[in-house]
Amino acid sequence: MQLHESIERYKQQNKLLLDQLISAESEIMNLTQILDACSDAILITSPESKIIYVNPSWEKLMGYSSPEVLGKNPKFLQSGKTPAKYYKNLRLNLHHRQPFTSDELINKRKDGTLFPAHSTIYPVTRLDTILYYVQFLYDISPQVEHENQRQQLLSIVSHELKTPITVLKLLISRYISAKNRRQVRVEDLQNIDKELDRLTQLIDESLDISKIESNKLNLNLTIFDLNNLIKETINQLSVIDQKHQIYFSSPDDLFVEADYKRIKQVLINLVTNAVKYSPDKDRVEINTKSNKKSIIVSVKDYGLGIPKEEQTLIFDKSYQIKKRSSDGLGLGLYICKEVIKKHHGKIWVKSQPGKGSIFFFSIPIRHTGRTRSKNLI
Ligand code: ADP
Repeated sequence: MQLHESIERYKQQNKLLLDQLISAESEIMNLTQILDACSDAILITSPESKIIYVNPSWEKLMGYSSPEVLGKNPKFLQSGKTPAKYYKNLRLNLHHRQPFTSDELINKRKDGTLFPAHSTIYPVTRLDTILYYVQFLYDISPQVEHENQRQQLLSIVSHELKTPITVLKLLISRYISAKNRRQVRVEDLQNIDKELDRLTQLIDESLDISKIESNKLNLNLTIFDLNNLIKETINQLSVIDQKHQIYFSSPDDLFVEADYKRIKQVLINLVTNAVKYSPDKDRVEINTKSNKKSIIVSVKDYGLGIPKEEQTLIFDKSYQIKKRSSDGLGLGLYICKEVIKKHHGKIWVKSQPGKGSIFFFSIPIRHTGRTRSKNLI
């Protein structure tokens, strides 16, 4: 009887243990499934710094497969480029059983490429004993690149601002120190005017870029005849440049729903470039074409032309910032692209080096996402 009871109790205890084991195992299974599905790269090590788990996001980010790294010390992932203070702070935090977060880690992938990472390492403890170290990792290259570009742009803007300001100061100080102050030279005033224009353009472009970056480039839509806008632009630019003739044969009414000032800004940019990049020629042509849905405007010059490999890059902000060959920000076309994009249109170029370029932009006649207007053709 006693023996029977003991056997029963033993069986029950075992069953309890077995149940606990099964539930622990299924909890681990669930946890692993969660970690596997996590979009952050995760690496877990033992207290002795041996890798015991990496999730698929980690494998994808680092280029290693899990079997290649299990059992290894994660030191082999070090790039040698992470600042020493990162490791110092890491040791300090983990020593006090505190999690450690940093953006200063530079990791090395299997193919040898380096990337900046946002990393958080948590010590997992039970009764003050370290069980695991869990690291969450993600690639912050896009953010770092964005920040670098921002800094670069800022230094370009401040550098560019200095030039007209220096010229203005010089011209003004010349006037102040002149014996006869009443005698102002017309050329000096013309130069002041030119430099002020340059300053205004720089400030306007910088503001536009900042609006684009923060997604605050808003359109003020009205319905207008594009012919008027083109004629107004030609009149305005003819005063500045008398060498080039700008040809435009106006067809019938070309009514569009768009932002008048912004489209004019695009056209001014394209015509100014056509003039600037055809110093030995004297002809620029503007044409328009329309169908029921959209209008295409083209600006043609017979100037220097653009090499094939650069034809898409000239609209690209990063490329232009790196290239920095001209005066000014060199981002006029990038701003044009963003303005046209905002109108749900397109901008592109056809060009042959030595023969000239034609820049095109198309915008829908009716701005998408708005109700039809009766005044439109
Ligand atoms: P910027 O003219 O100030 O450099 P843009 O963004 O207006 O800036 O133009 C970018 C680049 O595209 C120019 O630096 C130039 O190399 C090229 N480009 C633009 N328009 C023309 C053109 N009509 N002919 C030849 N090259 C051009």
